[in-house]
Amino acid sequence: MDCQIAIIGAGAVGLAIAAELSKYYQDIVCIEKHVHFGNGASSRNSEVIHAGIYYPHNSLKAKLCVEGNSLIYDWCQKYNVPHQKLGKLIIATSTNELEHLHDIYQQGKRNGLDKLELISQEKIKEIEPNIYAIEAINSTTTGIIDSHQFMQSLENFGYNNSVTYSYNSEIIAIEKIPNGYELTLRSDNETFTITAEIVINAAGLYADKISEMLQINTTENNYSLYFARGHYFRLSGKYHNYVKKLIYPVPVRNWTGIGIHITKDLNGYLKLGPDVEYLTKNIEDYSFNYNKINEFYEAAKRYIPTLSIEDLTPDQTGIRAKLQRQGEPFRDFIIKEESSLNLPNFINLIGIESPGLTSSLAIARYVKKIIEGL
Ligand SMILES: Cc1cc2nc3c(=O)[nH]c(=O)nc-3n(C[C@H](O)[C@H](O)[C@H](O)COP(=O)(O)OP(=O)(O)OC[C@H]3O[C@@H](n4cnc5c(N)ncnc54)[C@H](O)[C@@H]3O)c2cc1C
Repeated sequence: MDCQIAIIGAGAVGLAIAAELSKYYQDIVCIEKHVHFGNGASSRNSEVIHAGIYYPHNSLKAKLCVEGNSLIYDWCQKYNVPHQKLGKLIIATSTNELEHLHDIYQQGKRNGLDKLELISQEKIKEIEPNIYAIEAINSTTTGIIDSHQFMQSLENFGYNNSVTYSYNSEIIAIEKIPNGYELTLRSDNETFTITAEIVINAAGLYADKISEMLQINTTENNYSLYFARGHYFRLSGKYHNYVKKLIYPVPVRNWTGIGIHITKDLNGYLKLGPDVEYLTKNIEDYSFNYNKINEFYEAAKRYIPTLSIEDLTPDQTGIRAKLQRQGEPFRDFIIKEESSLNLPNFINLIGIESPGLTSSLAIARYVKKIIEGL
């Protein structure tokens, strides 16, 4: 075999897996179709280190987010990745949101977040005088991170442990061979093959397509992905450092997103977003629909009373890899070795949407445990 482990995709998840495995294994290749790491969801997101509040107890999303949260703070300290543990408030702005707010609080407690607290309107005013809310959940372990620097530190770690990064190399076919897999890569219109004992599919938006290369029936296995775009609007300079914490509304009870919220970057500038817009086709269409401005303004005006529509300017969009269709119930991350599909040593990671960035280091440890058990 040319290598022991081939990882498809150099987003935060593929890079984290390469870094973790490089401590224990040799001959690791991380294969990425772009010329650089992190061109997918990993560089088009809110850059929030989530606490793990919303997800159903015992789901992978809950477990890996809670574990990933503390791992990522430790990593940032150790490798000087810019971050801030600024905390977040999930706010109710009307009495009919209170029941759901309390349910979310209980969910967070069940997920092991002992420090979560419910705070009153008075206390909210003390912390965030510019925000209107009648009650809130105060999450102190939520934070923000420079995702690019984080990925750079993962790549550096891998380089130091002899990981090979094969950029500008698109996987176009995979074949099962005795004791492993043969991967066909295309680079600048040339194709070549490499063989690997273990293959890890961390291809983000295309993880279902990679599975199909091995004749996995994605419909039967419920592996099909649906692209859901999210827009962000930037708030004008007068809102610089307008809040201390991240501010999230109570989400609607349908699991597609967690509501148009305020995120703050490491320089103190504020953004609103993201919304959830399912695309009709799975194409990476990052275009910005400016007509969304009213929806964003109305959503944020409920908790930023001073806001005027002129304060919003288009920022960026990102695309989520969702396993659930619009309106369908919660779906968990799929992280699975596929012996049951006659594909031993092939590990699929599908539907790694939020909180995938936060969970990346915990996902990497989870994958390592799967490999140990092979
Ligand atoms: C709008 C939005 C907001 C989000 N906010 C947050 C947040 O605040 N906090 C949080 O924790 N998470 C958040 N997420 C989720 C987080 O961004 C993702 O879970 C995470 O980035 C997924 O990383 P990944 O490595 O799996 O995917 P990606 O970053 O998409 O990486 C996959 C890589 O695989 C490569 N690839 C695909 N096909 C091939 C192929 N055939 N050959 C070679 N390479 C291939 C791609 O080019 C890509 O680089 C958000 C996501 C979105 C879209």
